Amino acid sequence: MASNDTAELTEDMVRAALAAVRTPEGVALSVSPALSGVVVTSGKVYLSVNVDPAQARAWEGVRGAAEAAVKALPGVTSALVALTAERKAAPASAAPAAHGHGHGAPAPSRAISVPGVAAIIAVASGKGGVGKSTTSINLALGLRDLGLKVGLLDADIYGPSVPRLSGVAQKPETTADGKTMIPLENFGLQLMSIGFLVEEDTPMIWRGPMVMSAISQMLKDVKWGPLDVLVVDMPPGTGDAQLTMAQQVNLAGAVIVSTPQDLALIDARRGVAMFERVNIPILGVVENMSHFICPHCGGRSDIFGHGGAHAEADKLGVPFLGEIPLHMRIREMSDAGLPILVCDPDSPQAAAYRHVAQGVKAALERVQASARKAPRIVIE
Ligand code: ADP
Repeated sequence: MASNDTAELTEDMVRAALAAVRTPEGVALSVSPALSGVVVTSGKVYLSVNVDPAQARAWEGVRGAAEAAVKALPGVTSALVALTAERKAAPASAAPAAHGHGHGAPAPSRAISVPGVAAIIAVASGKGGVGKSTTSINLALGLRDLGLKVGLLDADIYGPSVPRLSGVAQKPETTADGKTMIPLENFGLQLMSIGFLVEEDTPMIWRGPMVMSAISQMLKDVKWGPLDVLVVDMPPGTGDAQLTMAQQVNLAGAVIVSTPQDLALIDARRGVAMFERVNIPILGVVENMSHFICPHCGGRSDIFGHGGAHAEADKLGVPFLGEIPLHMRIREMSDAGLPILVCDPDSPQAAAYRHVAQGVKAALERVQASARKAPRIVIE
C-alpha cells in the first residue's frame, strides 16, 4: 500500500527493485532484454516481460517475484506483471490460461462488486470470432440510446479489441491520489481495456490466476461510474478463466453471442451452462451473422439456415434477444473505430442492435426485480 501519496514513484525506482529478481538464466530482470515494457501511472505498475512461450512455466516464478518486489515499493498500490510473447499468440480459443491448471491458489469465491455501478453484465461466447466484441460495443451503445449511463470493460485480455472498436488508444490517467485509473470516454461510453495499457500487437501469455487479477484490477482500480450498466466483453470460451470470472464478479446477468452454425450453438450451450452453474441469470442469446445482407442490392440470404439460435434459446429456456445480420458495413466501420450505432444509427443493422439492447434492458429489469424479492442463494 502507498505509505505516502506525495512520494513520486518513478520508472527508475521500479527498475531498481527488479535488480533483485533473477531470470531463469540468473540475470537481473532489470537488465534482462526480456523486460520489454514498464508503465508507471502514479501508484500502478504494469510490466511486460517478453519470453519464449515454451519457457513460460519457468518464467512464472520470475513473474511472481517481480510482482512481489514491485508491490513492496513504497507508493505502489498495485502491480501487474504480464508475460508476453514475441511470436503471434495462439488463437483466442486455444488461450493457454484456459488450461493453466496448477498455478497459484484456488480462486476465492468472494464476489467482486464495483462501487458506483448498478449492474455488471457479461457478454460471452462459446468460442472466438463470433462477433462478441462487436456485439458488446453496439449493445453498450444501444443501452446508452435507451437513456442509460453505460461503461464497457474489455475483459477479453487474450485479444483486447475495444481500442480498435472504439478508436481510442491513449493510456488512461489516474486520479489525483494515484489510486485509481480514470476510464477513457468515447461515444458517451466509459471505456477500459488492457489494450490501453500494453503495446498493441503484443500477445500476452496469461496464466490462470493472472487473468482474474488483471480483470479485477480493471473492475476495482478504475473510477467507474456512476453507471447503470457496465458491459463486460468476456474472454471467449468457457475455460477456467471465464468460469473464475463468472464466479468472482457480482454479475447481474450474461448475454451469449452465437453464430447460427451448429458448432457455435454447441459452444453457446456450453456458455449458457457455465453461467447457470454459478447461478448467473442468462439475459438471453444473440444470433450474430444471422443472415447476409448484400451491400449492393440489400437482399437477404440465409446462408447458415435460419432460426437455429432462436430455437436453441427456446429449448434452453433462455430469452432470444434477436438477430444481427452479417453486413459488410458492420465489419468495415467497426474495424475503423466507428461502431454501426455511431456511423449509421438509422440503418436496419443499428436497429437490430437497439432491439437487442431493449431485450437486455428488459431482462435485466426482470432479474433485478426478482433478486430484490428473493436473495440469491449460491450452493457450491
Ligand atoms: P469476437 O469478439 O467474438 O472474437 P469480433 O467482434 O472481434 O469477434 O468480430 C470478428 C470479426 O467479425 C470482426 O472483423 C468484426 O468486424 C466482424 N463482425 C462481427 N459481427 C459482424 C456482423 N454482424 N457483420 C459483419 N461483420 C461482423
